[in-house]
Amino acid sequence: ASTWANVQQGPPTAGSALAQYQAILGVTEAFKADSFPKKINLGVGAYRDDQGKPYVLPSVLKAEKRVVDAKMNHEYAGITGVPEFTKAAAELAYGKGSPALENLVITQSISGTGALRIGAAFLERFYPGNKTIYIPTPSWANHKAVFDDAGLQVQNYRYYNKDTIGLDFEGMVADIKAAPKGSIFLFHACAHNPTGVDPTEQQWREIEQAVKAQGHFAFFDMAYQGFASGDTNKDAFAVRHFVENGHQICLAQSFAKNMGLYGERIGAFSLVTESAEEKKRVDSQVKILVRPMYSNPPIHGARLASTILNDPELYEEWLGEVKGMADRIIRMRALLRENLEKLGSKHDWSHITSQIGMFAYTGLSPEQMDALAKEHSVYATRNGRISVAGITSENVGRLAESIFKVKG
Ligand code: PMP
Repeated sequence: ASTWANVQQGPPTAGSALAQYQAILGVTEAFKADSFPKKINLGVGAYRDDQGKPYVLPSVLKAEKRVVDAKMNHEYAGITGVPEFTKAAAELAYGKGSPALENLVITQSISGTGALRIGAAFLERFYPGNKTIYIPTPSWANHKAVFDDAGLQVQNYRYYNKDTIGLDFEGMVADIKAAPKGSIFLFHACAHNPTGVDPTEQQWREIEQAVKAQGHFAFFDMAYQGFASGDTNKDAFAVRHFVENGHQICLAQSFAKNMGLYGERIGAFSLVTESAEEKKRVDSQVKILVRPMYSNPPIHGARLASTILNDPELYEEWLGEVKGMADRIIRMRALLRENLEKLGSKHDWSHITSQIGMFAYTGLSPEQMDALAKEHSVYATRNGRISVAGITSENVGRLAESIFKVKG
């Protein structure tokens, strides 16, 4: 018999990370197979320009040219990556001059996913409290998989309210208060995936108080800094607010979305520590974790991000491009809502414009999503999530008509 005869087919458990990934691949397959010229794909989790094409940021193209022209060598980076990159990434997240930077432990990571994985492994090994991490319902499907695989217990807290298509703020705070003291809470820093529903700044203040009162530990996942509001400082509000209030947070950062560097796999994981001496100890343990995982991270994406973040001119240009992406998404949200209302839809579509970031939860049922695909060649996952980045000035009218026909 083959060595692998006993390997079972992975179960496509509903809601699992793999099932969700396959669902998104399925959407792309169905989209490709459709011969209707005006078909629309709202399944992909990547930004598209107003022509529906992948967008390479001009600041990234310039940085890439500089990196190539510098004829740099391809020696290994250190275990924690390219120092000019991690220093600048930390400033972007925590804010220049933040006291947290002084004793921050930071390592470059294989994008946001890798950062989450390093964080999960560190918590599994060293977190002194309840090694249960609470994630929102729903969350990015890979959260549960990453934390499970790293050996943490995974539980959920209430987050999305189906009836209001908004935040279940009371439920969320109640669950924070009900969790055993000293638990770990995973928060999406901004542009919650998949719902597009974020707490307001006032709600973050109350969330911070509840977390502090229970002695919980906050783990922030910031995969979309700048992508929500168009302003990298505004999008970092929650992270900075927790830090200002004395929380020793940890943070996963990704440059996939805000620099369009998806496949370059560039991100960072950081931990706030209390003193130089503590920083030294924690840093040594992060290195001990990373070394047997992948030795050291890839350098190209780090050089691109570092070139942009450390050059004042390129940095300004990049901020403008991030804002451009966020603004286009905000514009498409407004257009979609406006078109639905013009058609005479009696439903309340205000959630389309109050939600933020790449994704919108439409509130459409799985059956209505099936009808969108079959009858109108509009493709997205059955949970009703659409990627607003897939909407263009040209297709928004037909999209609104299709939703109106399906839902009224
Ligand atoms: N967290 C969230 C909430 C995400 O949506 C994503 C990307 N879909 C990630 C983390 C990680 O993405 P990446 O590994 O490509 O940076």
